[in-house]
Amino acid sequence: MKTLLIGEYRDGKLLESTYELLGFADQLGAESALLLVGSDSQLPAYPGTLYLADAASCGEYNPDLHKQLILDAVQQENPDYIVFLHSSYGWDLAPRVAASLKVAQISEIIAAADGSFEVGCCNAKMRRSVKTNSGTTVLTIQAGAFPVLQPGGSPTIKKLSTTGSSALEFIGYEPAEKKDVDLGKAEIIVTAGRGIGKKDNVPVILALAKALGGELGASRPVVDAGWVEHSHQVGTTGQTVSPKLYVACGVSGAIQHLAGMKKSDFILAINKDKDAPIGEVADVLVVADVMQFVPALTAKLAK
Ligand SMILES: Cc1cc2nc3c(=O)[nH]c(=O)nc-3n(C[C@H](O)[C@H](O)[C@H](O)COP(=O)(O)OP(=O)(O)OC[C@H]3O[C@@H](n4cnc5c(N)ncnc54)[C@H](O)[C@@H]3O)c2cc1C
Repeated sequence: MKTLLIGEYRDGKLLESTYELLGFADQLGAESALLLVGSDSQLPAYPGTLYLADAASCGEYNPDLHKQLILDAVQQENPDYIVFLHSSYGWDLAPRVAASLKVAQISEIIAAADGSFEVGCCNAKMRRSVKTNSGTTVLTIQAGAFPVLQPGGSPTIKKLSTTGSSALEFIGYEPAEKKDVDLGKAEIIVTAGRGIGKKDNVPVILALAKALGGELGASRPVVDAGWVEHSHQVGTTGQTVSPKLYVACGVSGAIQHLAGMKKSDFILAINKDKDAPIGEVADVLVVADVMQFVPALTAKLAK
């Protein structure tokens, strides 16, 4: 089984998430070749074939040109799977490649087993198992769902270029609006999940964050409900954090949340359900009602 993995550069730097593609291929037990539109001054630690195109001439992002480069590599590699990260780059480019090749695409894969792929459904409350009948298949994988694999070594480079044209031009990146909190720098984060029950309970979680000298985090439903500002959201559509201490209050541990916080040094989870998935990444799981446990802990810390 062969995979062609489409890595990513941003602002001239190789993205660490490129190594999740290698972790995915490893789980499939597949051979891999990597494709990057970047520069030879920033090569991945990877001992296999690297199809490399120059971002200076193709643009760091240009869906028309990048698609042509990928199709060129597909012709040379004839892979079973063409694999993208489920990022803004991948979710824009993958369907263009699948449509050009007239093959199936499976998006946002969170697990792979026995030739089928699992994707979330019902707002990530359930999982669906999918198989394709087309020979070659385009896949996108969810951030954080597969381990980072950095095999080391130097790639064998095959240069790619395109003479194609595009109606699009990559202009550059614009920094996101300044946020009222930078969770990326916080050493302690106390996160409110849907299990806190209602907006009026947010100050209880905030009080624990303050008592610990940390910042308030939030899961997506808490942000979507308008209980906490989006700048506090942790996860794939929020911030990726790696504090020394992460306290998850009434957070179930959905894959999209875990992707944003599982690199924290120490994870304390408070959940009334002893089987909540957050328990799989937590160093300590306190099985308790969060609205009883958190005020008691804050009071102890104040003494
Ligand atoms: C494309 C996409 C992107 C997403 N991006 C993100 C993201 O960036 N961040 C994110 O967080 N989510 C994201 N999600 C949503 C994600 O799939 C989950 O739905 C979400 O993380 C669940 O949030 P939660 O854990 O707060 O709520 P729930 O899943 O509802 O969990 C609540 C938990 O609280 C516990 N609980 C309930 N009452 C109590 C109590 N009294 N005391 C103690 N425990 C209690 C329950 O046992 C449960 O485990 C995304 C989803 C999609 C589809």
